[in-house]
Amino acid sequence: MHKDVMASNHRKTKIIATVGPACDTIPKLMDLVKAGVDVFRLNFSHGTHENHLEVIDNILEINEMLGTHVGILADLQGPKLRVGNMENNGINIAPGDILTFVNEKCVGNKDRIYMSYSSFAKDVKPGEMVLVDDGKIRLEVISTNNKDEVKLKVLFGSFLSSKKGVNLPDTKISQPSLTEKDLEDLDFILTQPVNWIALSFVRNASDVTDLQKKIAKKNHHAKVIAKIEKPEAIKNIKEIVKVADGIMIARGDLGVEVPMEQLPSLQKRIIIRCVKMAKPVIVATQMMESMIVNPSPSRAEVTDVANAVLDGTDAVMLSGETSVGNHPVLVVKEMRKIISDAEKHFLMLVRRKDPDPQAETFLSDVLCFNAPRIAEIVHAKALTGITVNGYTAFKMSSYRPNSEIHIFSNKIHMLSTLALVWGVKGHFYSKFTTTDDTIKDVNEKLKEIGCVVPGDIVINTGSMPLQKRIRTNMLKISVVD
Ligand code: PEP
Repeated sequence: MHKDVMASNHRKTKIIATVGPACDTIPKLMDLVKAGVDVFRLNFSHGTHENHLEVIDNILEINEMLGTHVGILADLQGPKLRVGNMENNGINIAPGDILTFVNEKCVGNKDRIYMSYSSFAKDVKPGEMVLVDDGKIRLEVISTNNKDEVKLKVLFGSFLSSKKGVNLPDTKISQPSLTEKDLEDLDFILTQPVNWIALSFVRNASDVTDLQKKIAKKNHHAKVIAKIEKPEAIKNIKEIVKVADGIMIARGDLGVEVPMEQLPSLQKRIIIRCVKMAKPVIVATQMMESMIVNPSPSRAEVTDVANAVLDGTDAVMLSGETSVGNHPVLVVKEMRKIISDAEKHFLMLVRRKDPDPQAETFLSDVLCFNAPRIAEIVHAKALTGITVNGYTAFKMSSYRPNSEIHIFSNKIHMLSTLALVWGVKGHFYSKFTTTDDTIKDVNEKLKEIGCVVPGDIVINTGSMPLQKRIRTNMLKISVVD
């Protein structure tokens, strides 16, 4: 692995960077990886399939060149609602004004405003709230003809401009969470080696399982991240975390759809739930927002990133800061410094639930849960595991151990998938001869990368018999020669 990447690699909390025009070439993406990016996010709300394909090829090439396993997260737009174009690019409005939202495309004015969601008039009910432009405009539904026209009263706001986003926090939306556009994007994504697919505006567990089934049908390995950004998702969070492979706390839309003051406690509660269930969790949006323009973050942003680390998140995410910002590399370097300092004070108080004796994976769960505990008792420098589907890595990481977690796999895509997971460092390994040889090779690799020196203790896990590749069932306490 490249020396700059190794140097930036001592963190446990991972960094996700959204790709955009500010960073999509090979040299720029490579600088971001050297600065500390673990996963690149492709935002399907923007760009063409050709653009995304080029970025994917660039990332794969960088992984080859640097010997890294940087992951790829494809983020589907979902049912993002918007008003259409407005006269003069925007109209003045005032509290008490009555606006009319219609289904038919038109240039909006005080009398008629196009709204992109075709079932809007069917779904809304009088009294429900409609928020436009990140909540800067608040409207109340007065009446609907249940077909194609809705009258709304302005409660708050002064200027409505073209193409602004619309949130319906009170409304039970009938549209499926995968739109026509998402399905087209998915067809493209599933031809590519992406590791994670994020689903926007998830409302319940079946939104997630429907996407998982579509992915499985194409025999693709991608895992699903449920973006939590609706009150309905908060209500169903237990079931959603149970079925999703990972969770994103999408604070942008969530902060519009729920009272914003609830965001900090929701963030903490969702992270605790995810860690308990061994599901990777991402804190997203406005983490270093001022660095889109400025060369340094605000004190509040530094504190926000550090608090997410102290909450125990797996990853923190950058959006506009890297995709369109003035200082993409600098922002990653700053974030890395904040993470490294916060991790010195990290103490995970909430630990994963005790293994469930009824679970099919019970015996392996007991081992994966106790390996980090033993590592702590013997002050092991590293914990190692071998994985096919990531199971051992997710479980051991969820303990949030002090020791480094080194996971070995012969599946390159799995190593890039694990790039998102707290504390996990992935290594390619395909020589499965005997258990003794594998442990020897694994410990040699740790010596080679400078993680351990002779005399250090390593907790090795694996499965016996080796050739059967069954779940983790073996633990060895090694003293490095
Ligand atoms: C968010 O709302 O915080 C978010 C990450 O979603 P988007 O895809 O709209 O950036």
